[in-house]
Amino acid sequence: MNDSYEMLILFSINKSLNNYPLKRNLVTGGAGFLGSHLIDRLMELGEEVLCLDNYFTGTKLNLKKWINHPNFEIIRHDVTEPIQLEVDKIWHLACPASPIHYQYNPIKTSKTSFLGTYNMLGLARRVNAKFLLASTSEIYGNPKYSPQNENYYGNVNPNGIRSCYDEGKRIAETLCSDYERIHGLDVRIVRIFNTFGPRMRPNDGRVISNFIWQALKDEPLTIYGNGDQTRSFCYVDDLIGGMMQLMNSSVRTPVNIGNPNQITILELAEIIRKKINPNLDFFYKPLPQDDPLQRQPDIQKAKKMLNWEPTISFEDGLEKTINWFRDMKNLKY
Ligand code: NAD
Ligand code: UDP
Repeated sequence: MNDSYEMLILFSINKSLNNYPLKRNLVTGGAGFLGSHLIDRLMELGEEVLCLDNYFTGTKLNLKKWINHPNFEIIRHDVTEPIQLEVDKIWHLACPASPIHYQYNPIKTSKTSFLGTYNMLGLARRVNAKFLLASTSEIYGNPKYSPQNENYYGNVNPNGIRSCYDEGKRIAETLCSDYERIHGLDVRIVRIFNTFGPRMRPNDGRVISNFIWQALKDEPLTIYGNGDQTRSFCYVDDLIGGMMQLMNSSVRTPVNIGNPNQITILELAEIIRKKINPNLDFFYKPLPQDDPLQRQPDIQKAKKMLNWEPTISFEDGLEKTINWFRDMKNLKY
């Protein structure tokens, strides 16, 4: 062990002994796409981070630069089981997010959403930690109104193939709101709209990762339905900034965080094809059941209450994401 490393450890111990206000963050799902970006930001701020993950869709590779850092720890654990830890803030992200992953074992997805959130809220209550739930635009289902604001109750099928996720997140929001009302827990609920960026997995089935990966392999881009359905894509750095501002605020009701720039899936395919290989074909497949036809966040609340809005253009975000996938391909992922 070198001297500077030893000094760092002694400094950390002294800080704890002197009751220095170190922030201990628990990030559930921290080995995944969004969780690992959040951990990067917290670690760069000098906070302590405890990552909890069962590695269903996440990987330690996303966290490799922090392994062995004295402020960082990982626990392999499934949130459907209770756990006792001492922390100040809980960022609850653990849940598969891509349709092919959450539909792989839908009963487990419902358990993760309900029991996982229940266990983490119980932990927050015991140690009086601030709690943030990563909810989703999917709670609006196939929305009848666009853009969607936080007062819209949504249009969700309770019995379809997406219900384990959509209804799972709705009950998770209900649990958070009841812990806030009944136990006075300091909760935050972020409704995340489609987010993209480095560390999406090439095989996770989401549209941006699919299109980029297919284009890099000179394969046709798979368009589900006629491609008229819309989504609004937010670059990951903007999203994480919004989540952190929400945690630091006093807003206890749900807040949409996303980029309101809406495009059709066909337009997205055209943009990615043009950037990577203009000669590629499109391959049309049936639209999956309950696939929402439109999705666009109304972010007036985030602007007003958090002074937040996205700053990274879709083009810049896409460029960074494509570069990351190119590096992955060169590593023969
Ligand atoms: P991801 O699949 O990359 O990450 C999820 C992480 O949770 C993975 O590391 C996985 O191993 C872990 N996990 C899953 N089930 C678990 C369990 N039972 N116990 C412990 N760990 C478990 O997904 P992501 O895109 O990083 O999404 C993170 C969160 O944000 C999810 O809650 C998701 O619903 C929400 N969200 C994401 C998006 C998006 O566009 N990425 C949009 C809306 C909401
Ligand atoms: N989609 C597509 N081709 C693909 C993957 C997805 O056309 O290879 C469509 C999908 O049907 C949906 C949209 O792209 O309408 C966004 O899909 P994604 O899974 O990324 O996100 P979500 O549907 O959860 O918003």
